Amino acid sequence: MKNDLTPKERMAIPRQSMPEQPAEVRNKNFEEVPLGYPEETAVKEAQRCLQCKKPKCVEGCPVNVKIPEFINKIAEGDFDAAQEILLETNSLPAVCGRVCPQETQCEELCVLGKKGEAVAIGRLERFAADTARNKSCGSESTKKAVSKPSPDAPKIAIVGSGPSGLTCASDLLKAGYNVTIFEALHEPGGVLVYGIPEFRLPKSIVKTEINQLIVRGAKLETNSVIGRLYTIDELLEDEGFFAVFVGTGAGAPRFLNIPGENLNGVYSSNEFLTRVNLMKAYKKDAETPIMHGKNVAVFGAGNTAMDSARTALRIGAEEVHIMYRRSRKEMPARIEEIHHAEEEGVKLELLVNPIEFKGDENGWLTSVICQKMELGEPDDSGRRRPVPIEGSEFETPIDVAIIAVGTESNPLIRQTTPDLPMNKWGYIEADDNGVTGKKGVFAGGDIVTGAATVIEAMGAGKKAAEKIIEFIEG
Ligand code: FAD
Ligand code: SF4
Repeated sequence: MKNDLTPKERMAIPRQSMPEQPAEVRNKNFEEVPLGYPEETAVKEAQRCLQCKKPKCVEGCPVNVKIPEFINKIAEGDFDAAQEILLETNSLPAVCGRVCPQETQCEELCVLGKKGEAVAIGRLERFAADTARNKSCGSESTKKAVSKPSPDAPKIAIVGSGPSGLTCASDLLKAGYNVTIFEALHEPGGVLVYGIPEFRLPKSIVKTEINQLIVRGAKLETNSVIGRLYTIDELLEDEGFFAVFVGTGAGAPRFLNIPGENLNGVYSSNEFLTRVNLMKAYKKDAETPIMHGKNVAVFGAGNTAMDSARTALRIGAEEVHIMYRRSRKEMPARIEEIHHAEEEGVKLELLVNPIEFKGDENGWLTSVICQKMELGEPDDSGRRRPVPIEGSEFETPIDVAIIAVGTESNPLIRQTTPDLPMNKWGYIEADDNGVTGKKGVFAGGDIVTGAATVIEAMGAGKKAAEKIIEFIEG
């Protein structure tokens, strides 16, 4: 199929919408919400791309995916070639096509967005990756094509199996090194499996991507907490690893530090989502119980808050309120996530701040007391500071509270590797290429930047892999 439309013809094609489950159906199940482009729609959307000579979209992508090239292949109907181009720079395209904030990255810079609507780059990335995955499922050809590293090649340890660790592992395998991934939890994938819910990112997709790494020769050690099983020094000195990449994320929850936070029924979003995503706590026969609240309040307004609220609805809550101390404009979640949450029945209560949780005589949460806020001058983050309105306190009955006000680094690596330089917030100090102040130790992703995005963590894993190769070969 030729992709030879004139620019005028391309610009006349409207941005193609993606079918999704209706809100009143999907808010009761864990199936994926958007259903993906059918082939014909994907080709039509791909034909909108102007194939710019100097593509701005690529500058917006932290791993510099060759966007016009892969889109051109979709427009030509050569979907395998589209996936090959994606894999050159992005080892997790099916993940990124689903969860990357394209509207503030590649799509924000797309020239078509200046006068109309940007090319749906994320949806096309998802289409190419899904088509290739569905086609290769069970196919022997993929298994035959891979070459594993030689047993004598240097060994590299990857600590943490989130997107930064997986990407670093993938690039090191490509370069012919032996890679062992140590993961503290019983399932690999980091936030991709324990944080982002099934209805946004099916776990089978993450599993397929990780299986590919194993087929290519990566060793995976789950239930292996570095800092307990081995320290980083032991990996380097006793276990024969030439270098260590630390991609342990920022998974320790922050709390509100207000009275009543220890009551039964108050969860951190991290605990709530992990119980549901990883332990399947919503199933009747689950070994890890979770409270199925009727009136749920979620505090915070990022993606984690949206995921928690939408999950609470799906496990049977009658009312779910997101309580946020600033206004809608300052909400950090992706617009699409806020839109989906509201469509599904989540209610936003803006400019309110919790000051106390109340409970009954048995220690169970019964209500929250909040104070109304107004916006003052911008703070360090550039967002307008919320200021309490005196005398505006009010009480709302709730039986589950989920606190989604951010995360910080886990202290274990810090405590067991005293000569690894950290900043004052407990994150590892590393340069833009993942080089730390400790010889042989590299780091990237949320453990360096604090909570960020999947693609940024992947970009960090990629750069660190290059530096590890330089370090070993040098
Ligand atoms: P992580 O994904 O956190 O992985 C770190 C891994 O290291 C974990 O598996 C952990 O168990 C393991 N680990 C920790 N300590 C040790 C140890 N001592 N030994 C061995 N293993 C260890 N980003 C987006 O781009 N789009 C989204 O839609 C989005 N939604 C999100 C929703 C939620 C609920 C959350 C929490 C985050 C979301 N993010 C999103 C952010 C994104 O997921 C993270 O920025 C990204 O996963 C960071 O990757 P990472 O590799 O640095 O760490
Ligand atoms: Fe295509 Fe937009 Fe990128 Fe130009 S900027 S190549 S139109 S996706």
